[in-house]
Amino acid sequence: MEEPELYLFSGPDILLPPGTAAIDGARRLGPAHRSGDLALPSGALRRDFEWEGRACAALSLDEAQAAGSGLERLPLRQALGLFEDAALRPAIKAAALVNWLAGAVHCGACGGLLVDDDHESSGRRCTICGRVHFPRISPAVIVLIRRGEEALFARNARFPGRRFGLVAGFVDPGESIEETVAREVREETGIEISGLRYLRSQSWPFPDSLMLAFTAAWASGEARPDGKEIVELLWCRPDALPSIPPPGSVARWLVDEFVRGAI
Ligand SMILES: [Zn+2]
Repeated sequence: MEEPELYLFSGPDILLPPGTAAIDGARRLGPAHRSGDLALPSGALRRDFEWEGRACAALSLDEAQAAGSGLERLPLRQALGLFEDAALRPAIKAAALVNWLAGAVHCGACGGLLVDDDHESSGRRCTICGRVHFPRISPAVIVLIRRGEEALFARNARFPGRRFGLVAGFVDPGESIEETVAREVREETGIEISGLRYLRSQSWPFPDSLMLAFTAAWASGEARPDGKEIVELLWCRPDALPSIPPPGSVARWLVDEFVRGAI
């Protein structure tokens, strides 16, 4: 059998060969390892999966295993801007799997120990009550709101420095996606929108989101930050942007599309 592509993580970091993350502007081939190149620790959390017909495996190493591997740690978020999209996709899946695996230890219903399930390949089965637990995916929306030539930028209280992003939030139980967008915009900015249009989605393993990206038009109301989650709002033209998210996120993609006049 073909040797699998390995994606290694430790905590929030992806593990890469030393020097991979050196900043020289060049895009790297990809974050995958071949097992022949590594002395893999036994007992690491592991999940095998297939990506476009290729055998892959996600591994999560503890601190000591990561230190002993000779590999370099890089926050996954930074790696998103370092590699080509196609090379990153299996790494993002791997990250989502190890994030889930780390918490898929005991059954949430009865506390029994979970084991890999032979029949449901992606699930973990409870050894006491038999319930099968699957990886959790949390849908969230993000929206670029247009008003004339401007778009609305929001500074989240948790963002570093004076970085701005876009209005975003998680889908609540019982809500449609359209309702989520309207609610998040209303809660965070006080405005109403119209002309909601879906553009694309992105798996966002921090730790388990699926981001659904939209555009919409300002309809009414004055933009006022809620003062809790959002501390500042700005209407900006494409030639006068604030500090924006680094490459790799769908938020940045929306801004880039706005700047090049595509949305
Ligand atoms: Zn159980």
